[in-house]
Amino acid sequence: MTHSVNPILPGAAIGVLGSGQLGRMFAIAARQMGYRVHTFSPESDTPTGQVSDVEIAASYDDLDAVRGFARGVQAVTFEFENVPAACVEAAAAYVPVRPGGAVLHTTQNRLREKTFLANNGFPTTVFAPVRSKADLSAALAQTGLPAILKTASSGYDGKGQAKVASLEEAAKAFADCGGQEMIAEGFVDFELEFSVVLARGLDGSFAHWGAIQNRHKHHILDLSTAPAQMSETATSQAVELARALAQKLELIGVLCIEFFLTRKGAILVNELAPRPHNSGHLTINASRTSQFEQQLRAVCGLPLGSTEFVAAAAMANLLGDLWQAGEPNWPAACALPDVKFHLYGKIEPRPGRKMGHLTALAASPELAAQTVLLARQKLQPRGQPRF
Ligand code: AMP
Repeated sequence: MTHSVNPILPGAAIGVLGSGQLGRMFAIAARQMGYRVHTFSPESDTPTGQVSDVEIAASYDDLDAVRGFARGVQAVTFEFENVPAACVEAAAAYVPVRPGGAVLHTTQNRLREKTFLANNGFPTTVFAPVRSKADLSAALAQTGLPAILKTASSGYDGKGQAKVASLEEAAKAFADCGGQEMIAEGFVDFELEFSVVLARGLDGSFAHWGAIQNRHKHHILDLSTAPAQMSETATSQAVELARALAQKLELIGVLCIEFFLTRKGAILVNELAPRPHNSGHLTINASRTSQFEQQLRAVCGLPLGSTEFVAAAAMANLLGDLWQAGEPNWPAACALPDVKFHLYGKIEPRPGRKMGHLTALAASPELAAQTVLLARQKLQPRGQPRF
């Protein structure tokens, strides 16, 4: 159905598919600007639900519940992109879903995503499909060794991924993932990893926060710093790729593109996420407009805000591991005046679970990184073990 291009104004309700921390920070931005937020996911008392006007707990396959949710809002966006296509279609029959189902379809499957990128001339590492054990030797011949095997769908934070150095290891990794469709990728010897978080408005306007440098630990994002320590040429090359990609996808909303900068100076796209991203959390404190406010503006058809940084910044994730020895020492982190903490309202601090993050502002990204890491160290609990 064709929807009006008139902006959706404050007072309207915006629907969010998914209910994690990304939805929570979106809801906080939306409520600040006078919008109502309805969230839909299979769980209740969720990070998003806790700060929303309405929380619906139902399966993404329950299309009647999805229709009821869509009828109650003026637009739908999401914070969790792995929702079934039928769910998006059911919602789109009533209200605009931004970004649209086509963007979701492309980015839900790594093979589809990389094929789309390669077909449209965007640089990626060499890759090949692995749909059966018989595909493995041809795939590895293409990628070379070592290679990375990843499940084509539903993988995140390094889950369903293995670095393999031989055909035997690849066969084991394929079997370990239950024989589901996988992608083999050439291993990238990278200098650094970075992301470009961007927004594209209803009128095709484009905004971005430059290159944000990312450091992962056990495949989970650990530290992001902005601006990334790379040449201006590499940064503007990445931003131009981001602009072209957003346009090609006809995106309305926020998109994060994760990149590798190789040791030879080449830029390769690793992965797309059609929503705000963990690496963009620092924009809440460091930029005039956060990625979440920008998502709201794009989804509502409002002009995009300024993405100017007020200072260099660093963000460190707080995983559940930090709680292993007791409650973190919040007053100690607050004692650093340039550090802000953000917690997601999750009750159970499981190891590896993203519970919150810290952001530090400083005169340089290095200084911001030092400060945020110091603050995280100060959080280490001194109390009695909780487990
Ligand atoms: P992904 O889930 O694709 O974002 O991968 C998680 C992390 O694994 C990346 O941020 C990289 O640190 C690493 N990684 C993924 N793919 C590759 C690759 N082809 N070569 C080298 N490292 C990779």
